[in-house]
Amino acid sequence: MENRPPLHIVIFGRPGSGKSSLAERLGEAHGFAMIRTGELLREAVRRGDALGTQIEELLAAGRLVPDDLVGEVLAWNLSVLRRDRLLFDGFPRTIGQIPLLRRLEELVDFRVDYYVEIAVSAAEAVARMEGRRVCPSCGATYHVRKNPPAAEGICDKDGTALVRRADDAPDVLGVRQQVYETQTGPVVEYYRTALPDRFLRIDGEQSFEAVSADLERALGLAS
Ligand code: AMP
Repeated sequence: MENRPPLHIVIFGRPGSGKSSLAERLGEAHGFAMIRTGELLREAVRRGDALGTQIEELLAAGRLVPDDLVGEVLAWNLSVLRRDRLLFDGFPRTIGQIPLLRRLEELVDFRVDYYVEIAVSAAEAVARMEGRRVCPSCGATYHVRKNPPAAEGICDKDGTALVRRADDAPDVLGVRQQVYETQTGPVVEYYRTALPDRFLRIDGEQSFEAVSADLERALGLAS
């Protein structure tokens, strides 16, 4: 563990691309600290503090939270950002958040090594989201067919009853895909063209195991 090289990764993918499950797997296998802005924002909603109350409706509607509030939540977590292996899941998500990441790199003194896109079609992503279930207690994600828990409807890690996320409701799925295309698509395109040597695109339409293996290989982490 001590001799492992530092590694900082940003992972992109449509809602339903599997990016969070892949990030979770990578994090557990290779010791990444995770920065998941979606999870940090949902925590604020669960706490019911001023920020949580302000953003609750946006999250439930599948809309993005304003950049300055995302910056605030990240600033609360600066100590995590000092870890030697970091994985950003769900950030940056708008063109306005690109300078925010740059400021964090300067402030905490790290550099993102790879920007990774998990590429899947909109149709495949929607099909996956329909079956997604999450643990409201620890945030672990499952899929009713593709990645089921050992006991139906129960989290493997802590035994909590799994739920469907409010923003996975059928009427919100389409909005989230559209938000990804219009707001985050340009961010992915920016890194692909500005930093081609650090940009990786992984075919996300294969099985979870195959995507996971491709991701590890591309990052030089395959054993
Ligand atoms: P996720 O768990 O990454 O799908 O995020 C869930 C929700 O949190 C999104 O639909 C947004 O409402 C909000 N969110 C997460 N990350 C960001 C971000 N970087 N910028 C703006 N909103 C975000």
